[in-house]
Amino acid sequence: MELTLVLTHACNLACRYCYAGPKSSRRMSEALGEQALAWGFAQVPPGGKIQVGYFGGEPLLTWDLLRHFQVRAEQLAREKNITLVATVTTNGTLLTDERMAWLAEHGVVVAVSLDGARETHEALRPYASGASSFEDALRGAKVALARAPLTELIAVSDPGNVARLSGTARFLLDQGARVISLSPNYAGAWEEAALETYAREFEGVGDEFLRRFRAGEDVYIAQLDAKIVGRLKCGLQACDKCTFGLGEVAVAPSGNLYPCERLVGEDADPRWVIGTLERGVDRARLEALYYARLGKDFTCVSCALRPRCMNFCGCSNAFSSGDAAAPGAFLCRAEQVHAKVADRVARTLFWEANPVFLRKFYQETAVPSGVAPVVEVEPLATPVPATG
Ligand code: SF4
Ligand code: SF4
Repeated sequence: MELTLVLTHACNLACRYCYAGPKSSRRMSEALGEQALAWGFAQVPPGGKIQVGYFGGEPLLTWDLLRHFQVRAEQLAREKNITLVATVTTNGTLLTDERMAWLAEHGVVVAVSLDGARETHEALRPYASGASSFEDALRGAKVALARAPLTELIAVSDPGNVARLSGTARFLLDQGARVISLSPNYAGAWEEAALETYAREFEGVGDEFLRRFRAGEDVYIAQLDAKIVGRLKCGLQACDKCTFGLGEVAVAPSGNLYPCERLVGEDADPRWVIGTLERGVDRARLEALYYARLGKDFTCVSCALRPRCMNFCGCSNAFSSGDAAAPGAFLCRAEQVHAKVADRVARTLFWEANPVFLRKFYQETAVPSGVAPVVEVEPLATPVPATG
């Protein structure tokens, strides 16, 4: 069970690509959050596991609520013998060492958004006042990494900063991060020139991955690692995919339920509402959304990359095409780029018998005997036509 509490719609930043809507000051009440936790824990059998995420807006604007709900979640986990994993995604500007110490002590896994070096970050992630948020976000990222070295740093790739994408990967890893995500803005205005830049820059990201492994560093770049794992497993498995409402629910401050926190926005689009805390999940509504998502990928049915493509992700589809059931043109192109680069770097490191790579992906330190290199570049699919 994954339960995300959208603590507030407010944010102190005004990122140009923000999908969280125009921002209101509405925050979750203590009573509603407690009700959501009770509901979420009731879905999990004793001995099971729950992941509770804190999201926004900027969740650290409601630090009091986050602490309150985390302590309550820990109580429920103890009472019901349920394993609790907690996460928070923050823009980092309000993350002090004292707060990070508390989060680390309570086992809350932190992800910090930072778009890269100063110029890149400042291009699209200003404070709401227009001032630069770079110094504060970078300080927050460093505070998090100092207490929790596996903190994920997330940079959004967008047509407005894609020309520096490979430099962003290098910058984030140079800060000491071991886990990074170069999260594409699927809703961006990706013209052909930007797509070509994306493909070229992502090759540079692959080169950075190679460079780190050759230097003995074990780094995780989400878009590459996912594709390598997908190949080694002969396709992404159920456990690698989100469930979009089935076992994964986000709760808005109003009490509306959504299949993914990224679809909450300002809580104003009824297409994605799958119920309310008062009435519970509307099964018919959820199933309509869920099965539409599974049944409409006819555009992809003959694609060789389909088993490891993230066209299963309803919210990424929705941002890229307007339809949760169908991937848009940019998502399709980005997936092909990620797979091509992942195959190149994995094949290279495999044949170099890179010990860090072999230990990470094969749990071996030498090329395993009798194992064929599982990383070959496949012919790419015919891209999904632009749909919106
Ligand atoms: S920090 Fe997050 S919620 Fe705030 S404006 Fe940026 S993307 Fe939106
Ligand atoms: S056609 Fe595109 S979106 Fe569909 S499976 Fe292939 S790469 Fe993915």
